[in-house]
Amino acid sequence: MTKKVLIGNIYIGGGAPIAIQSMCNTKTKDIVATVKQINELEKAGCDIIRVAVPDMEAAKAIKDIKKEINIPLVADIHFDYKLAIESAKGGVDKLRINPGNIGERENVEAVANIAKDKGIPIRIGVNGGSVDRKKYPILNEESLVLSGMEQVKILESMGFTDIVLSIKSSSVPLMIKAYKLASTLCDYPLHLGVTEAGLKEVGTIKSAVGIGSLLNMGIGDTIRVSLTDDPIEEVYVAREILSALELREESYRFISCPTCGRTQIDLQGLAKRVNEYLRKNPPKRPITVAVMGCIVNGPGEAKEADIGVAGGKARGAIFKRGEFVRNVPESDMFEELVKEIELL
Ligand code: SF4
Repeated sequence: MTKKVLIGNIYIGGGAPIAIQSMCNTKTKDIVATVKQINELEKAGCDIIRVAVPDMEAAKAIKDIKKEINIPLVADIHFDYKLAIESAKGGVDKLRINPGNIGERENVEAVANIAKDKGIPIRIGVNGGSVDRKKYPILNEESLVLSGMEQVKILESMGFTDIVLSIKSSSVPLMIKAYKLASTLCDYPLHLGVTEAGLKEVGTIKSAVGIGSLLNMGIGDTIRVSLTDDPIEEVYVAREILSALELREESYRFISCPTCGRTQIDLQGLAKRVNEYLRKNPPKRPITVAVMGCIVNGPGEAKEADIGVAGGKARGAIFKRGEFVRNVPESDMFEELVKEIELL
């Protein structure tokens, strides 16, 4: 069991629910845009949000951002310890900073001291690019984890143990091995991720395999799916990973058929619209929605769902909890399904 760490009002580790994280892609100094994105991400299911703090303007913006958001805020800092100090003063809930890259020991001590005073945890994050290749010429799970543990030891030597650790790699097998090794060497909560996972399609698969494999082994306390896409997609994918492993109850289950030569409606278009609607308007209690292409398998699945549709020729049959409701023309199918979902 990992240690429990409090980030704002959310616990991670120690058996707490797996928290979903994402990172804003706005300029942090643009307070209005950043707050807007954070609030949208919260609505999508993000539990903890990180922002880049590349300069003092961004660090000073933390205070104002904090006033307008509900979820814990993490400041991502490299090289300049003063940015960490300013972010901590502004009320940030966690720092993501590597002690080894902020210079003198006294700089690290200044950060550790203010973090300790304010009860702010620090995430140490190592990835393939941050391993000292002079010291560790071979990039493997051992060099990744040892690099991370070196950073951990710097903070521990200052009496600071409110630590979260990430050991990321863009290679799925390597990140799995590295996190497995890290889990045997320390009891700090582990922040899981496949770094630079790529565009949505490939990144989703890599993250699902890497993060999902580890969670399935009982390793990992918080997750971030990294996609070259809108961060809201990261949150949706993270939710799907947790839901597939039954680690988070989703408010809906969406079923759609793969389509085949029997399909006579634009099922793909309809399925995308219904899924998008459910993502943006999560039902108040768990429901299953099925969108099926034809009368061969369609009515069976549609009947099993709370709300389902089975397509026909330019029309479809709507079912509600196993009972046929009515036939609707294809042009009205989306609106009619939404109407029934809202009536549940
Ligand atoms: S439900 Fe019908 S349309 Fe969809 S894949 Fe099955 S047989 Fe084909």
